[in-house]
Amino acid sequence: METKKVVVIGGSGLVGQYIIKQLLNDKSVNYQVTSFDLTANSLSHSVIGDITNIAQLTEALENVEICIHCASPRTGLGKEIYFKVNVEGTRNVVDACKSVGVKKLIFTSSASVVYNGQHLLNANEDLPHCDIHLDAYNETKSIAEKLVLEANDPASGFLTIALRPAGIFGPGDLQASYSVYKAAKEGKYKYMVGENKTLFDMTFVGNVAHAHVLCCKNLNAENSGQAYNITNDEPIYW
Ligand code: NAD
Repeated sequence: METKKVVVIGGSGLVGQYIIKQLLNDKSVNYQVTSFDLTANSLSHSVIGDITNIAQLTEALENVEICIHCASPRTGLGKEIYFKVNVEGTRNVVDACKSVGVKKLIFTSSASVVYNGQHLLNANEDLPHCDIHLDAYNETKSIAEKLVLEANDPASGFLTIALRPAGIFGPGDLQASYSVYKAAKEGKYKYMVGENKTLFDMTFVGNVAHAHVLCCKNLNAENSGQAYNITNDEPIYW
């Protein structure tokens, strides 16, 4: 069976853990998975490191074929941390991948790169990034996505892609699902703002992870260098 070495940056987070489980459960490829994160996890070999430190990153990416980058600070923090991790950290990821000869870089972007409060129905990947973003998290995800896609270079054998989930939910989610649970527990479900017609796209975490696994298998010179919106289908777990 074919063996592929993969590093999952952000492997201890919600999406990262699902990606690792799905890769390890894949019976068609022998994925040798390492997580690179600020914290360790029990699913795979873990390297504790910070993407703002390019030396740590470069060492972790030696002899690796595929790099999945799904690390980001959680929402609701200060502007400085998003620029440091999402912009400078992602630039380090791109540079480190190129310097050690990683072949595929799969980046978890966000649907919010095209959203600044306007109604979006049946939106597709033709929409441009916003000129003005809702906040620093969204602005820095947009800059990071551009950095990753501009680095796509099939001629030299370096392929990149960006995946854009919307709000992610599912077992283990301590952000969106937990805030709904907390609001309900505090009795806040009794109030309604507006006419209850507002739509919001949520993506099941297992399907988000599955999109990354599909990229590990199918990313090629024809489909690289582009962003793809990730929506739901039947839920996929492991
Ligand atoms: P998460 O917070 O559960 O996981 C992120 C992981 O990144 C954490 O384990 C954290 O320790 C790690 N990390 C943060 N800074 C780091 C650094 N400097 N160096 C190394 N590791 C670092 O987040 P998640 O929900 O799993 O999100 C995964 C990705 O999906 C992120 O890129 C996020 O922007 C994107 N995304 C999330 C949502 C959502 O609703 N959760 C929606 C759209 C896009």
